[in-house]
This record gives sequence, structure tokens and C-alpha cells, in this order.
Amino acid sequence: MTQETTFVGFGSNLGDRQELCDRAFALMNLLPLSRVTGVSSYYETEPVDPEGRLGTTWFYNGVVRLETSLSPTQLLDILQETERGLGRDDENRQGPRTMDFDILLFGQRQIDQAGLTVPHPRLHLRRFVLEPLVEIDSASIHPTLHRSMKELLDALKDTSRVKKLSIKPGTKYPTQPACSVPPSS
Ligand code: ADP
Ligand code: MG
Repeated sequence: MTQETTFVGFGSNLGDRQELCDRAFALMNLLPLSRVTGVSSYYETEPVDPEGRLGTTWFYNGVVRLETSLSPTQLLDILQETERGLGRDDENRQGPRTMDFDILLFGQRQIDQAGLTVPHPRLHLRRFVLEPLVEIDSASIHPTLHRSMKELLDALKDTSRVKKLSIKPGTKYPTQPACSVPPSS
């Protein structure tokens, strides 16, 4: 089964943002056919939304790197189900959100189908994506722009504010499988 390296962005600006990001990270560690191989710091980021639909609460954002044998659509389906499980309001998807997942890159694949565009079409325009992405993998090459994530960040015009936090993701819900040691009889 082929494995791909994928990068998933997460963000929350409604409810207990740190708690929600910790849960999202814990759940990503439980994805089938997948292994988390990196996570950025959390960043507190100004909402980027000219129409003001996201509200004024700053986001917690971060990026996870996964090795996965899931297909991109399988991964998206699970991530959307996880968004719902974390309280995402499907009726008002454009509003403030408890959790938003975006598939940023999926190996070097280019996907353009109903409901899924990869690389994410706004990845190279967003400071709140590129700063955490560069923190964990500055050398990955954008499959259509043919530039590294570091080069994209250096060329970025987005002046919205992004503050790296010192909280460590994953401390709250340790992700070692609880049943890794067989119970003694
Ligand atoms: P946004 O993340 O841009 O604020 P949403 O999370 O509401 O918006 O996503 C809107 C739609 O974008 C989803 O229904 C999903 O099917 C679609 N979509 C397209 N490409 C992607 C991608 N790479 N990652 C996640 N969702 C995507
Ligand atoms: Mg999204």
C-alpha cells in the first residue's frame, strides 16, 4: 500500500480553542492507516476575512504532518466527521468554528474534484498556514508553484498577525495507545 506524506492544517476560534486543538491533535493520532510524524506549535492568529463572517475572536492554528495510506477523499471524509464531532456548525460553515481542518498538501498530488482541491488553493496566501508549516517542514515543494514552503513564506504579502505560543500540543491527551501492553492474566 503506498504511503504519502500529507500536511493538515487545523484551526479553532469558537469555544475553548486550546482544548479543541488538543482534542483534534489526539484524534489525528488515532486516524486509521496513518501515523503522525510532526506537529507545529500552536499559533494565535488574527481572523483573515474581509467580509467579517469569522467574527473577531483570534484563532488557534497549527499544522500536523501525517504518513498515510488513506486516499485523499477518505482522509477528508474522516476530518469532516471529526469537525462535526468537535461541534462544527454545518449550517453556518463560514462563521466562527470550533474546528476547521484543511488538507494542505498530499504528497506531490494535484487534485481538483468536487469538494477537494489539493494543494489547498489558499495555502500560499496565508501566514497562519505557512508559519506553522515552515516550522515543521520548510523544504516541502509546492507541486504547482514549484517553490519551497520557506520561499513562499518569504514572498508572502499577508500582513495579518500570527503569534507563536509556547504551549506544547499533545500534552493534555497523551497519544500512546492505551492497549499497547496486553493485560496480564
Ligand atoms: P475554509 O476552510 O476555506 O474556511 P470550509 O472548511 O468550510 O472552508 O471548507 C469548505 C469546503 O472546502 C469543504 O466542504 C470541502 O469539501 C472543501 N475543500 C476543498 N478542498 C479542500 C481541502 N484541500 N481541504 C479541506 N476542505 C477542502
Ligand atoms: Mg476547511
